[in-house]
Amino acid sequence: MIAKKYSASLHVKALHTLHKRMPRNHPKYVMIKDEYYQKLNGEIGEEVVMKVFEQLKLPYKFYVFHNISLYAESLFQIDVLLITPYYAFVFEVKNIKGEIVFTDQQLTRTLETNKTDSYESPVLQLAEYEYQLNQIFKATGINLPIHGAVVFAFATSNIKVPPTNKTLLFRRGIKPYLRSIQTNSPILNEAKLDNLKEYLLKANIDFQPFPLTEHYEINPDSIRNGVECRNCGLVGMKKVIRNWYCPSCKATQRNAHEAALVDYFLVCKNTISNQECQKFLNLNNKHEATKILKSPLLIKTGQSRNSKYTIKEISIQRKKTAKGNQFTWESN
Ligand SMILES: [Zn+2]
Repeated sequence: MIAKKYSASLHVKALHTLHKRMPRNHPKYVMIKDEYYQKLNGEIGEEVVMKVFEQLKLPYKFYVFHNISLYAESLFQIDVLLITPYYAFVFEVKNIKGEIVFTDQQLTRTLETNKTDSYESPVLQLAEYEYQLNQIFKATGINLPIHGAVVFAFATSNIKVPPTNKTLLFRRGIKPYLRSIQTNSPILNEAKLDNLKEYLLKANIDFQPFPLTEHYEINPDSIRNGVECRNCGLVGMKKVIRNWYCPSCKATQRNAHEAALVDYFLVCKNTISNQECQKFLNLNNKHEATKILKSPLLIKTGQSRNSKYTIKEISIQRKKTAKGNQFTWESN
């Protein structure tokens, strides 16, 4: 059973926004662009791997968690965690194209163009997660063995040198591998397994590195202001009466400012004042900002002149379209 289902991450959406709104000549532009694509590919890999777990059947009860962040000696995030009455299993998901070589400390990949990139070793990542998860189990008096595997999400990863001391699976190998695990007598009964599931869900701490300019030490004044046109992508729609108008494709959109407000909170600052709103949305006067700040997306704090607004919790959906990956969101 899925205990924590796949969900697109706010962090990836925020990186997309930051990348889109950063000037190309900014010294950190390339770093942010690489970080966005790396995290996006990771997430696409996790999404397809979670589809396998959604269809998984085992002859005993089990729970699966996508992207669970726990704290033992430090905060650590497991891509996919499986708990059963017999064992726990940690999966580190990779979506890296090209020829892959595992060394002791690293993973390197070479593309057809001969470009080579190095990554942190997923084997070392797994060892760390298994160790930390074990600390949590010990502290709660659970004596469940922990296994781990590196999972490649797509067959476009061509493994030249596999890791010597860790299980490596492709997505399609997950189910047969789990079915082949020998079990004797259960360590946890069903009630204890249920308790462990509840405990882990409560212990989950969502990683919230917002606003991203603070997280990556980027001056928020260098971020491009403006409302984005949903139709053509231009950032710089004009506020007209009861509407937003795109000078490029001539589209009009009624609530185009809402997406810009989400962008503002993810990237620039976690509060917004009337003046900051006027500036970020390129409004004509403070009355327009006052109206917009009454949005159901926002929560008001402080009185009259010193009023500031924060945003309600939102959840993100990602869709692949002809124009690339598109993010939509809704207020929870
Ligand atoms: Zn447009």
